[in-house]
Amino acid sequence: MLFYELCKCYNLLEKTRKKLEMVDILSNTLKNASSKEIGKISLLTLGKIHPDFIGIELMLAERMAIKALTMASGRSEKSVLKYLEEIGDLGETSQKLLKGKTQSSLLVFTQQEEKYEPEVLEIWNLLDSIAKMSGDGSSDRKIRTLSGLISRVQPLEARYIMRIVCGQLRLGVATQLLMEALSKAVTGSRENKHIIERAYNRCADISKVAETLYEEGLETVQKIDVQVFNPIKVMLAQRVSSSDELIERFGGKSALEYKYDGLRVQVHVKDRKVKLFSRRSEDITNQFPDVCKYILEALKEDNFIVEGEVVAYDYEKDKILPFQHISQRKRKHNIEQKMMEIPLRVFLFDALFFNGKSLLESNYIERRSSLHQIIEETKNIQFSHQTLVSSTDEIEAFFHQALEDNYEGIMGKSIDENSSYQAGTRGFSWVKYKADYVDNLSDSFDLVILGAEYGKGKRAGKYGTFLLGCFDIDEGVYRTFTRVATGFSDDELDSFYTILSSLKADKTKDVISSLNSSVWFEPKIVVEVSGAEITVSQKHTCAQNHLENPQNGLALRFPRFTGRIVEDKSPEEITSVEEILTIYLNQRNKIDVSNNV
Ligand code: AMP
Repeated sequence: MLFYELCKCYNLLEKTRKKLEMVDILSNTLKNASSKEIGKISLLTLGKIHPDFIGIELMLAERMAIKALTMASGRSEKSVLKYLEEIGDLGETSQKLLKGKTQSSLLVFTQQEEKYEPEVLEIWNLLDSIAKMSGDGSSDRKIRTLSGLISRVQPLEARYIMRIVCGQLRLGVATQLLMEALSKAVTGSRENKHIIERAYNRCADISKVAETLYEEGLETVQKIDVQVFNPIKVMLAQRVSSSDELIERFGGKSALEYKYDGLRVQVHVKDRKVKLFSRRSEDITNQFPDVCKYILEALKEDNFIVEGEVVAYDYEKDKILPFQHISQRKRKHNIEQKMMEIPLRVFLFDALFFNGKSLLESNYIERRSSLHQIIEETKNIQFSHQTLVSSTDEIEAFFHQALEDNYEGIMGKSIDENSSYQAGTRGFSWVKYKADYVDNLSDSFDLVILGAEYGKGKRAGKYGTFLLGCFDIDEGVYRTFTRVATGFSDDELDSFYTILSSLKADKTKDVISSLNSSVWFEPKIVVEVSGAEITVSQKHTCAQNHLENPQNGLALRFPRFTGRIVEDKSPEEITSVEEILTIYLNQRNKIDVSNNV
């Protein structure tokens, strides 16, 4: 397939926000892809060149892309920057400036000048080679290769190449929508998406699933299973706000575990080689050499996948340290030094692969028993503190013990016959019950920063108020939920200003907001915010079309930044419209009940 064909499809996708229309547009183009192309096309459409766990990212700094555009367009950097400021979007700016160039060069081109019509695979290969350039002078080589590429392709192709290299594709195509389009392209119906999704949740590799689908069909996709060193999409939990609700969910009996406030880690071991994956399926092995060593010291078996939470731990006082400590261990440099300063402990809570087979279909009790067969507890590797309960009194006792021991709450887990591990799903087989949910007028949310206003007085020259959004999974868009201005220290405001300034962008169609913002950003930075109450709002668009009056949305009152930047959730994994709606309806029911008493 020609890359130009794919770009025409991207251009059409940009013009609509209607999900079904987008699925149709995309599937019509995907139909024309070969089995060799479809994997790469799927990745490119998500703005990637490799699955996250491969660890090869393109993500050129915008200033490098600007240099490439300056060279390719033959203009001065000053003039490129001026256009960029006016237009706001790097892709569009590139398209415009290179179009001008093509038109003027046409005047001097002769008939023999050959038109460059690259195939998708050729572009993918070039982008891959740019991503892999490293070492001395690699920045210059990247700029020159990119500049050479965009000066040869059509302006429309340059528009999307520039966006892909800077991580700004933003077509509004999330993995969910892509999977529907793949399903429609191959089987004629969106309905088979769940089969594709099941496979994707087992290998976190959309290119592998798409290639299998095109080469061998849906039946083979159905057989894609867990493999050591291929991360599994993690299972997530719903929240409950009382022990009654918890026990009701599980039909009167449940397993409870402490909820550890750290980083989720999926541990893969084969032939005594250890790999660690984050909650976002990224390879984080190199960041935690100490964890790899602890695992090797604790294993009783080989060839398995287990899961747990890694926390910073004060071994002298025998207590877990707050999240801020472990977050300092998420780094690429100076690892040895930080390893000495911040010791870790892992609390394992699940086993997902053992004895050559997947345990995802096994129930909770079976998986937990496998965990005990695979690992021996050591000083550094422990099992999550756990108990089985059958009454609310037992839940309350365990919950209060967890709080007393300094943990943030507890997890309730179904012990049903069918309590399988639901990869990639936020179901009700796992629930979280945290201290902040007890008093339902205080809750915390993981929200993405969409925009900001400049501050005044002490905050002049920095951003002082941030517009935050939640994610609408159905539509693949962000919806505004609150504006937050409190809870920030001066240092935090400084660092937000630095981080966000490089993410300034035009508001695109995947942000649904009826509010204006002085500055808009790429939706990349996720923050935790607590709030007092969810109210109906005519300004915010969260849950619009889900309430009695479809014009109304929901908003968070008295929001406060908790001090936590949530790095292990991608913007698509933040608090969803659905979750907020559930909390709002629960909150309303409680108020109704107390009014009636
Ligand atoms: P949240 O991030 O608030 O959605 O809470 C779910 C997260 O809690 C999981 O993704 C894990 O990282 C973490 N967690 C801590 N302790 C446990 C546990 N015992 N079982 C499962 N998840 C846990």
